[in-house]
Amino acid sequence: MEKTCTEVWNSCLQIIKDNIPNQSFKTWFEPISALKLEGKVLTIQVPSLFFYEWLEEHYVGLLRKTVKKQLGDEGRLEYNIVVDKSSSTGSPYTTNMPSNGNGAEAKTQSMPIPVSINKDIKNPFIIPGLKKLNVDPQLNPNYTFDNYIEGDCNRLARSAGYAVAAKPGGTSFNPLMIYGGVGLGKTHLAQAIGNEIKRNVPDKLVIYVSCEKFCQQFVDSLKNNTINDFVNFYQAMDVIIMDDVHNFAGKEKTQDIFFHIFNHLHQSGKQVILTSDKAPKDLAGLEERLLSRFKWGLSADLQVPDLETRVAILKKKMYADGIELPGEVIEYVAHNIDNNVRELEGAMVSLLAQSTLNKKDIDLALAKQMLKNFIKNTSKEISMEYIQKLVCEYFEVPVDMVKSQTRKREIVQARQISMYLSKSHTKSSLKTIGAFFGGRDHSTVIYACQTVEDLIETDKKFKAYVNDIQKKLKMS
Ligand code: ADP
Ligand code: MG
Repeated sequence: MEKTCTEVWNSCLQIIKDNIPNQSFKTWFEPISALKLEGKVLTIQVPSLFFYEWLEEHYVGLLRKTVKKQLGDEGRLEYNIVVDKSSSTGSPYTTNMPSNGNGAEAKTQSMPIPVSINKDIKNPFIIPGLKKLNVDPQLNPNYTFDNYIEGDCNRLARSAGYAVAAKPGGTSFNPLMIYGGVGLGKTHLAQAIGNEIKRNVPDKLVIYVSCEKFCQQFVDSLKNNTINDFVNFYQAMDVIIMDDVHNFAGKEKTQDIFFHIFNHLHQSGKQVILTSDKAPKDLAGLEERLLSRFKWGLSADLQVPDLETRVAILKKKMYADGIELPGEVIEYVAHNIDNNVRELEGAMVSLLAQSTLNKKDIDLALAKQMLKNFIKNTSKEISMEYIQKLVCEYFEVPVDMVKSQTRKREIVQARQISMYLSKSHTKSSLKTIGAFFGGRDHSTVIYACQTVEDLIETDKKFKAYVNDIQKKLKMS
């Protein structure tokens, strides 16, 4: 008696189950049903195009073998892909469809896998009414272009972002990759693009998601067997903004999924915006094929803003928060916090908090005192100048005497300790140290260090002095 399609498929499943991890089986094979068997052609129904691609990519060899085992050498497999009517525009799915697996499998193309798409079957997995339901884009409305200060540091990224916002999917900046160090405004700019798109065309489906959250959602969807909903959701978007893609490092499965989502969106002219802490070429732990996609569009970097831009950012922020600070305070903050916009803002917030709590206006002296910890925390390197100042204060000798030619005992002592501390606390060379302390040569510095070391060993009082100064140095 002829076997039914379900019987054949169940026998296939038995073999497949023994050959792949249980989780993968549940995710990728349980949702499949057998549709029909005509001669040697078994048709199975998969819940989405993505499913089909995934099976082709990861399981085509296994499928081929098992089908042949059941149906003989002529055995063939056809897919029937469920397509949601509401989200299919014409028939984009038949284009660019790979007809076979890739990589190692490409050599043995004895079993073509044609695809037929059945548009009449309602996809049971799609989130009902997604297109009509407005998806919450997860954007922070405070991140706009309006309050994103332009400077040399961000001009390219900002204007590319603006172009993308005006014509999502319609520029060659797809994907747009914004990269740069911590606190330089990547998230702000990426979200500003999203907000601008929503402002221009409110029904565009925009989603902002951090890479980390995406990875977590993927893991959850595997656990709950909702991978299809997960993929369908992202593939239904018009614009996806993924923040901090460097966090994909080492997460191969999630990268795989994103690769498929990316391809789907890109092929259908949807916009992808990415941020990262490094340029695509420097991203480690990402699959080459994903990286190569990231390089397709435009990568624009954010640099550290210059002083002028930092001042402008602070002024804008003050204005937004309704605070007023004296110009010299702004200058002071902008001058001293120079590598991170987030810290710049943090300093302002703490100034504001202090002034409200103490009910005192902020002048430069107060700002200096209040920001001491803040600024020191940004781990400024200890300078020779600072060492000299500290040592001279400690021994109560005039600063300029140390650099002079005088051989007075207490001056010589301050000079030698300064050189010794410069040697141990800065990266300066002996030559530089000698030059700094009154144009002396490197052998003078060696001699000074030797003398101080000897005295530390033999003279308790001297040792206490040096320890004291060192403590002050570390506190600063
Ligand atoms: P990143 O994502 O690169 O770590 P964020 O986008 O979170 O940095 O920026 C840190 C903070 O600095 C945010 O509050 C942001 O609004 C602000 N910021 C960064 N760049 C600018 C800019 N050019 N103009 C105004 N604010 C900025
Ligand atoms: Mg960020």
